[in-house]
Formats: sequence, structure tokens, C-alpha cells
Amino acid sequence: MNISYQSTRGGEKGVTASQAILKGLACDGGLFMPAEIPKLDLTMRELAGKTYQETAYEVMKLFLTDFTEDELKGCIDRAYDNKFDTKAIAPLVKADGVYYLELFHGSTIAFKDMALSILPHLMTAAAKKNHLDQEIVILTATSGDTGKAAMAGFAGVEGTRIIVFYPKGGVSRVQELQMVTQKGDNTAVVAIHGNFDDAQTGVKQIFSDKEFARKLEEKGFVFSSANSINIGRLIPQIVYYVYAYGQLLNNGEIGDGEKIHVTVPTGNFGNILAAYFAKQMGVPIDKLICASNDNKVLYDFFKTGTYDKKRDFILTISPSMDILISSNLERLIYLSTGCDAGKTSGLMADLAKTGSYTVSEDMKRRMADFAGGFATQEEDKEVIRKVYEDTGYVMDTHTGVACAVYQKYKAESKDGTKAVIASTASPYKFSRSVMEAIEKTELPEDEFEVIDSLSRISGTEIPRAVEEIRSAQVRHSRECAIEEMKTTIAGILGL
Ligand SMILES: *Cc1c(COP(=O)(O)O)cnc(C)c1O
Repeated sequence: MNISYQSTRGGEKGVTASQAILKGLACDGGLFMPAEIPKLDLTMRELAGKTYQETAYEVMKLFLTDFTEDELKGCIDRAYDNKFDTKAIAPLVKADGVYYLELFHGSTIAFKDMALSILPHLMTAAAKKNHLDQEIVILTATSGDTGKAAMAGFAGVEGTRIIVFYPKGGVSRVQELQMVTQKGDNTAVVAIHGNFDDAQTGVKQIFSDKEFARKLEEKGFVFSSANSINIGRLIPQIVYYVYAYGQLLNNGEIGDGEKIHVTVPTGNFGNILAAYFAKQMGVPIDKLICASNDNKVLYDFFKTGTYDKKRDFILTISPSMDILISSNLERLIYLSTGCDAGKTSGLMADLAKTGSYTVSEDMKRRMADFAGGFATQEEDKEVIRKVYEDTGYVMDTHTGVACAVYQKYKAESKDGTKAVIASTASPYKFSRSVMEAIEKTELPEDEFEVIDSLSRISGTEIPRAVEEIRSAQVRHSRECAIEEMKTTIAGILGL
């Protein structure tokens, strides 16, 4: 069966998977959605015996129907290799009665590696398939983790360039060092004087700027996106939810057909949407618990049906979730209108014009699989310390938000359904906040001394990604104001 893709805003239809990946964002500013969400064609029991790579093929072949088996398997093998520090790729660790799905074993130690290890391969295969002869320029806004993971994936990939915008002062020290030390002539990193929403909105505007696109084309460039607005990010993320369920079955932790909850620390709504897709494909998932930090726009949305971004942007110790405009929510909105592009674009226009929108009761009912929760920074730190003291397991500040939210959910609902928590980053990426939570004392100023003590107390080895930046040379120092993003890009590309 062939799956075609269409824009959530109705401006494009009948697009192939490879074209949707190349484009990133649809030309009307909407996001690409498959015409239908396919069902898994193997049982969970059959899938349970498969490796990560085999599972990836079984899931992705159902969506990327214009890729051949050889192309897809080639992409998968090149992506999920020894860049990951464990053969399991996404291991499930049981601690304190819940299962942590560790998504941080790739080269940049955050869950973004799960999709960004394969996206460059999918994109170059798609470029060949569509006889694209322009150079692809990947424009990326990052709240800290996407930027590095995308550069790691695209660095040195022929026929591509990548430009990353991150919020100056809005990322952790390790995140910033990882980005500014990036090697590769085709990479550029820019710190913007604004927050993540400014960066993402700026990038989206540049994408829909037809005049600028024409200028680029004259010079032989075409834009694409490595953000989770690209369907090529979302589809690989479905894989680990299928795989996690299979591991639980395989280890006898659950029985056939037993439902589980999934809790996801959420920012741009990409990761949790992938879990929802897994459920639609047939994985027995019950609730999708959407965990927010103090920027709890999604919590308020699921509670009231009103999405309201008109509020202060709060910088927290889980910076990759400091977001007020969750792009991928548009895909859920679209599904809950019954795929009505007119209604969806109306709501998105409200958001752009007034800063908020309200969904109908009917739409709310269709989103009932989701439960929203939030945790303050104090609750986040408290749970990191408590789980460490009780079990020795150290989690990062984003996973901490999910864990705190799940514990509150469980206490309130008295629901004993088994739960998987998506663990989205290595604690080493946020070592200062993690150590502050655990030690509660003054920490040394030097970041690497803090990292060394994290290694001591957790009894874990410092990941390669962190050792690398200890002595790496800073290669990127560009900064710009929000309104200078376009001219900065023009400068980098020599337009
Ligand atoms: C990006 C990120 C998130 C948020 O994921 P979304 O898909 O944007 O909702 C959570 N935690 C970490 C560590 C991240 O890097």
C-alpha cells in the first residue's frame, strides 16, 4: 500500500514520503501528515523478538512507501551502528517500579539522536530518488539538543549544509560547548538574542518566504528542516515505542495485550506524538502522559481546551522543554478535527493573530488519550534526589520532570498500570543542575569538576560526547538579533 502525505493546512496533497522529507515544511506553512496511519503487520509477540534495526524496518517501511527495501535497510544500518554505546540502541531500565526508556545512547547523548542519526541518510536517498541537484541547506532552530544532533548527522554529508540557531543564554553549558566546537566545513552555528520560540518562528518565516527561496534557488540551494516538523524526524521516533513494548513482553514484565502508560517530557510535542502514532498502529498503549515544566502551556491546553501562549517564557533547568509554541501539536489538532485542513488552518491563524485558540468539545474528546501534567523546578530536583537516594539511578532534569509528573498522576488516579518513562537525555548533559539536586551544596565553578563528581557518585563512565568537549577548540562564535536571522543566513551562504 502506498501512503501519500498532505499538509495539515490543505495547501499540498498527494506528496510522496521522500518529497515530504526533502521539503520539511509544506509550502502553506502546514506540517505533512500521512493520509492514514498504517497498522503494524506483525503481532507484538512477533515484533518482540526483533533487534532495534529490524523493528525500525518493520515500522518505517509502512510509512516510507516510496523507499525500496534496500534503500531503507541501508539507511537503518548506517544510522543505528556503533555510534550508539549499547547494542540495544534504546535500552529499558527498571528503577523504582517504572521502566526508563533510555533514548540517550547515541553520539550526542540526547533523544534527538534517535531520529537525527537516520534523517541525513533518508534525505540523501530522497534527493537521489527525486533527482534533486541543488545543495540542501538544513535550517534548524534548537532548544539545545536538536542542533548538535543534527550537526553530528549532517557534518561532512555531501550535498548538504546545516545552519543552527540556538538561544543565547538559554541552553546548558555542555549543550553550548557541544555546538560551538562542532567540526565540518558545512556546519554553521549562530547564537540568537532571543528564546527558542523566537528562533523557531524566525526559521518558519524564512521557510515560507517565497522571495528568499527564489534567491536561494538561483544560487543552487534549497532549504529543508531537521526539526520535528519534518515527518522524517517523527517516523523514526515511533520505532522505540514499538521496541520498548516488545522488550517488556520479551522480559515477561507484561502479558500479551496488556496496556501500558507512556510518560514523555514534552516541548515541541514531537516525541509524545510519535508515541501516539505507535498507539494508532496497534501498540497497546493506554494513556499518553504529557509532562511539562514551568512553561506549562500544554498542561493548561489539555485541561481547558484553550491553547494560550500569551505568558512569560520561563528559563528552567530543563531548557530543551522551554517552549511556548509546540509545533507538532498542530498534527494532533489536525487528527482531532477528523483531518479537516480548513479547521486546522483556522485555529493556527488564531494562534498567529491573537496568541491563542480554543478547540471544540468534540475535538477534546478525541484527544482523551492524553493526560497533561507539570512539575516545578523544585519538584524536578526533589525527584532526581529521591530516586538517586532510593535506587542509585541518576536521571537528567528533563526525565525528572516526566518522573515527577508520573508520580503525581499515579498518586491522584490510583492507577497501577505499568508505565514507561521516556528518558530523553544523559544526566551528563545537565550535570550542574543534576548535581545541585543531589548534593544540595555549593558546586565548583568549573563545569568539568562537576562532571567528574557526577561520575563518582553515579558510578558511571563519562560519555565520549562529554570527554570530547573537555579540550575541543571553539569554532563558532556568530551571534545575531532575531531580526537579523535572514541576513545572517545570506552571509553564511554567500548570497
Ligand atoms: C527535545 C527534548 C525534549 C522535548 O521533546 P519534544 O519532542 O520537543 O517534545 C525533552 N527532553 C530533551 C532532553 C530534549 O532534548
